Amino acid sequence: MSVASRYQILFEPVRLGPVTTRNRFYQVPHCTGMGFTLPHTLAAMRGMKAQGGWGVVCTEYCSLHPTSDDQPYPYASLWDEGDVANLTAMTESVHAHGALAGVELWHGGSYVANLGSRLPTLGVRSMPGRDGPVQSQRMDRRDIRAFRRWHLAAARRARAAGFDIIYVYPTHGYLLWEFLSRSLNDRSDEYGGSLENRLRLTREILEETREAVGDRCAVAVRFSADGHGEAHLSRTEAHDVVGQLAELPDLWDFVVGDYYGEEMATSRFVQEGALEERVARIKRLTTKPVVSVGRFTSPDTMVRQVRSGVLDLIGAARPSIADPFLPEKIRTGQLEQIRECIGCNVCYAYNYRGSALRCTQNPTMGEEWRRGWHPEEVPAGRGGTVLVVGAGPAGLEAAHILGKRGYTVSLAEAAEEPGGRVALESRLPGLAEWARVRDYRLTQLRALENVSLYLGSRLTAADVREFGADHVFIATGARWRRNGLGRSHVSALEGLPQNQVLTPDDILAGARPAGAVVIFDDDHYYMGPVIARLLAVGGARVTYVTSAGVAGEWSHYTGEQDAVQRQLLESGVEILVSTTVVAFDGAAVALECVFTGTRRTRAADALVLITSREPQDELYRALVGETEAPDGMRIRRIGDCLQPALIAHAVYAGYKAARELDEAGAAVAVPRDRAQIRR
Ligand code: ADP
Ligand code: SF4
Repeated sequence: MSVASRYQILFEPVRLGPVTTRNRFYQVPHCTGMGFTLPHTLAAMRGMKAQGGWGVVCTEYCSLHPTSDDQPYPYASLWDEGDVANLTAMTESVHAHGALAGVELWHGGSYVANLGSRLPTLGVRSMPGRDGPVQSQRMDRRDIRAFRRWHLAAARRARAAGFDIIYVYPTHGYLLWEFLSRSLNDRSDEYGGSLENRLRLTREILEETREAVGDRCAVAVRFSADGHGEAHLSRTEAHDVVGQLAELPDLWDFVVGDYYGEEMATSRFVQEGALEERVARIKRLTTKPVVSVGRFTSPDTMVRQVRSGVLDLIGAARPSIADPFLPEKIRTGQLEQIRECIGCNVCYAYNYRGSALRCTQNPTMGEEWRRGWHPEEVPAGRGGTVLVVGAGPAGLEAAHILGKRGYTVSLAEAAEEPGGRVALESRLPGLAEWARVRDYRLTQLRALENVSLYLGSRLTAADVREFGADHVFIATGARWRRNGLGRSHVSALEGLPQNQVLTPDDILAGARPAGAVVIFDDDHYYMGPVIARLLAVGGARVTYVTSAGVAGEWSHYTGEQDAVQRQLLESGVEILVSTTVVAFDGAAVALECVFTGTRRTRAADALVLITSREPQDELYRALVGETEAPDGMRIRRIGDCLQPALIAHAVYAGYKAARELDEAGAAVAVPRDRAQIRR
């Protein structure tokens, strides 16, 4: 069977009430860190998805009223005509490429903080929000009536902005979810008590939205297939909700109750297609089209979902971020060109930090408007030869982009295998999908006759000079420090018995300390917990010591922290928080409380230091001396050897340097997306 006919079913149009999507590829609502603050950036990014073949492209959560203000997290909004104008830019860029535009109307209820609007937050009862010593205002009947008016007005604005699909959103812990909750909803009026009463507000909103905009826009409901947890809305009740509303929406968007643990979980904890069984069960209750997610990147899995009747539309957030052209690549049979999401949630982390979306796999994400970057196209360069030293993520990315721009590229790698840290780290438990960072780039390189990869080639400064390339990119990475330097210690720890001290580089090279092992995590992301679990499962008695307040603290941003801590506890790892390691004599470590300085000891046969990394820039310094190379110079550093950071940073640095080679001034001359005072 040809590729085209095998996947043909994915390209069938699907009718959604008054509108029809051209195919089954549906970009579900996902956070961007752009929202109302970066309207040009948002419009260009969403438009790129449409260009890449997605049939439907949705907004992120879109606030319908100033009582739902999630600052400092940048959400979309439809509060007024200004918002209509800004979001019209998005719908126009989506429509320009033949896709439908959807908007997820949202009210955060008690969960938000209203930091910007300074209005009281609203709840089914007075409840503390996500954080802060602030509670919501209990909604009375007047407030409910007002909420219905606001929702209706926002739906009308959505239609005016050109949206084709409008969401009603009774899930994920927000206002309509609060009303559905058996535990939170303690009302004695027609909005509380029985399931029918608790569902009343959602039903009213749904009916009013249909009435107001249903002639031109499809109305979607995003709902959790397995309820909201027994205390709130049981699985049986969730099925009853869908049973009662079954044919009212034009489309159901099913999620599951555990947002961080499952729906948005990383590949470390959850595999592709994990929601399938629960969605399949609830889909039987409606004849309306159903969309759901599962970090789908395999077209065969997608076809199976449709053929087996689990899904009508293939929902995707992260796969559409990693590869905006996923549908188009499937349509044209270029399956090996798909840039598969690795399930790391770096995209989510940066939204959570209040900055625009970025992606480990797709360095152009978020740069479509500001820099004019396109995920599949690069301009031709001036030509010439480039030597790239180091085939980690930075070197691999730079080499293939330079190759695509027409340079003659030699990529030299000291190791016998390419991939640098990605090749090594993807062998750690749970990180296998990270190898996709290497694999995608190797596939690209192999198709380029003007790029040569030399493995087992550790280059010296003399080698580089002798090679005589027009440009040299040094991408030689970083090594974990063995002396304790990092956040907690600005000076090296003295007197460490080096034969009993290990770093992640040793573990990655195969070292497995046994007996009593203390791990000191001053890095706060994945490396400490991953190694702690690896050694504990291997039989060591592991004490995980961190200077942070919880295990793998930064994983809070990727939505993994709960799962990380649970996994360590279940693996028998002892966790000591807010503590640093200050000494090790080969038999015991000295520990210090970060608050009081109180000391204690712990017996230890080995100490694993996960503190910070040393850039491996000797080669660069030998070539250019101590003076910083100016922008545009022949020899440049990229990735971890310039700035040890996430894999996403290294890929971005590799892309940027390769994309901007010979384009003087490109690094600084970028427009800023911001509100400007007109004079
Ligand atoms: P990054 O994340 O910046 O890409 P990595 O540490 O993943 O960095 O990769 C750096 C790569 O550079 C490693 O695979 C390493 O073997 C290679 N390397 C380091 N020094 C040299 C050298 N002198 N010559 C060739 N390759 C080198
Ligand atoms: Fe996937 Fe990671 Fe990119 Fe997010 S950042 S889309 S999880 S590869």
